[in-house]
Amino acid sequence: MTDRLDSLTDLKKEAKTICTRPQMLERAYGIGLTDDELEKLQTSVAEWVARFMRVRFFGPADGKHNNFNFMDVLGVEDNIWTPTFGLKGKIDATVLIKKDGQLMTTPLEFKTGSTKSQKRQPIKSDHVGQVSLYTLMMSTKYGPIQEALLYYISDDSMSIHPPRNLELQQLLMNRNKLVRSTTLSEGDLPYLPRPDGIDYEFKCKTCEVRNICTLQIRKNKRPENELMNTEKALLANCNLSDEEFDFFEQWMKVINAETEEVEKRYNDKNLWTLDPEVREGSGTCIANLKLVGDSVPWEDSCGKAGFLASFEKKGSSSQFLANLKVNDFIALSSNVEVCINYGVIVSLRDNEITLFLDQTLHKEYKSGNFTYSVDKINTTSPIASQYGYLMKLMNDTPEAERLRQYIIMKKQPNFKKLLLPDPQLQQIVNDLNTEQSRLNWKSQSTDSFLFVKGTPGSGKTASIVRLLKALVYAKKSVLVVSYTGMALEHILKKFKEDNDEFIKINSSSAAEDSLRSHTTKELSNSVTSIAELTELYNKPVVGTTLLSLKHPIFQVRRFDYCIVDEASQALPTAVFEL
Ligand code: SF4
Repeated sequence: MTDRLDSLTDLKKEAKTICTRPQMLERAYGIGLTDDELEKLQTSVAEWVARFMRVRFFGPADGKHNNFNFMDVLGVEDNIWTPTFGLKGKIDATVLIKKDGQLMTTPLEFKTGSTKSQKRQPIKSDHVGQVSLYTLMMSTKYGPIQEALLYYISDDSMSIHPPRNLELQQLLMNRNKLVRSTTLSEGDLPYLPRPDGIDYEFKCKTCEVRNICTLQIRKNKRPENELMNTEKALLANCNLSDEEFDFFEQWMKVINAETEEVEKRYNDKNLWTLDPEVREGSGTCIANLKLVGDSVPWEDSCGKAGFLASFEKKGSSSQFLANLKVNDFIALSSNVEVCINYGVIVSLRDNEITLFLDQTLHKEYKSGNFTYSVDKINTTSPIASQYGYLMKLMNDTPEAERLRQYIIMKKQPNFKKLLLPDPQLQQIVNDLNTEQSRLNWKSQSTDSFLFVKGTPGSGKTASIVRLLKALVYAKKSVLVVSYTGMALEHILKKFKEDNDEFIKINSSSAAEDSLRSHTTKELSNSVTSIAELTELYNKPVVGTTLLSLKHPIFQVRRFDYCIVDEASQALPTAVFEL
């Protein structure tokens, strides 16, 4: 970066280029920024980078700002996997510094907060613990790490910390205790020993997984005298009923079973334990690759920045044996490190594979004396989402409590009386049969939900489309959700016959031609501001599959109605996200 950007003007231009990429505009929209706010942020980030580089990076070790000199940046957002310790993580930056005449490789962790706002404990012990862990992880690659750097952006405060070896030892012992307890247990909710010193008032009271943590203690039914005080306090302060507890337990079993199935397909664990050649035998890895040329900066079709790198298969067979294909998510490993980079396969031909990587390769990999392997990985987001939904549903919040009443305690909906529809609305539904008409009116009059069952061919899709039209006519916003993309496209194509005020959350490559211009990918690619994006995303009807509920649109918009097609395939916990 310092080669290309040597003035504040250059930095501001670069910040603007980055912030007007479709993906960045979508994220900014998702967190509710306006164009003015985004522009101010660009300027302040550019100014901060310029100041950081001038004072912190190139500034002298004068004891005022720095007690050391920065010599080089070895990596940014480094993935470090250490099978030796069973740890993995992403380090903000790996830097080379010179302190007291000695060169040292250290992790540098950026924190957005300020030390001044935390009067009781200016530098958080969690943060020091975090960088201490990084020193341990980095030691398998760089040898013993003597220092770690913590930088608080808000008040420009840099501190240097030697690793706390005793605390690290304790941390790993606690982790091992937890793993042992999980693997020895035959139940679905093993007893997880809580570390000593966790205080209910100080930590648990505001912990967002408090209810789940308590349910897990209840399930284990340990004798009172074996419980820690924190565990007793958690039990005493939990208001969940037995029905709610059973619901949680049953759905944990379902999600765990689903996770096991996914793990069988991907075998991510093998990355930690098996050689690449053995993994290649199972068809999820391509081993013995050589880097061709260098990695080059590249932007994908969504405006996501990364690096392109090509690799060639060496050895007796020039054929790719694995079941990998274009667009698969992968982990790239070298013969000396596991998982140095994540990415996506861009092309696979003859004996060459090209990857779109999150990060450029470290300088040391440019010498060409390494072999690489590419493993197909599970991005886990659908399963992780299910755990997340379940956790939110069991949370101690009024919204979770309300939803539990309907989903678990089977509270029935109330229906209000509707006024007679106006003639045009009557026109929309006049060719529906009696049952379909009833469904239409009941859907509009429920105070919470309406559950509709129908055999194939009974006219569910026709009813949904008519309901959509009626709701849009009544100026309501509607979210249409289905489990499969095909069912969703079927509904939207029919709706489009006389109304195109809708968008579809999807990548255009997966959308039918007739719907492509309505996809968020296509729409976001054509905009240059948050205001334009907001206008495009403000259509009354939004269609999505259950797997796309993480789109930024759902952080911003709330809908008057939500129609879930193929509801029997949706986990009830997903309702929380709708
Ligand atoms: S509620 Fe459970 S997970 Fe949360 S802080 Fe307390 S012991 Fe830890």
